Amino acid sequence: KMKKFKIKLDKEACIGCGVCTSVCDNWIMDDNKAKPKKTTISEKELKCNKEAEDICPVDAIKIGG
Ligand code: SF4
Repeated sequence: KMKKFKIKLDKEACIGCGVCTSVCDNWIMDDNKAKPKKTTISEKELKCNKEAEDICPVDAIKIGG
């Protein structure tokens, strides 16, 4: 069975810079805040979401198992 990962966004922390959307197509902007299209992702989708987590300047993105 494929492992699943949960995505959490701290909307208060998000400064709306849009960088996450440039590194991962799971991220879009909505009303000047980032928004994940999917909040549960597969291992295959982990890589670019991890990049978004790493690149976010305010650590608003957290990915957990
Ligand atoms: Fe918000 Fe972080 Fe995405 Fe910038 S990179 S839009 S601060 S979640």
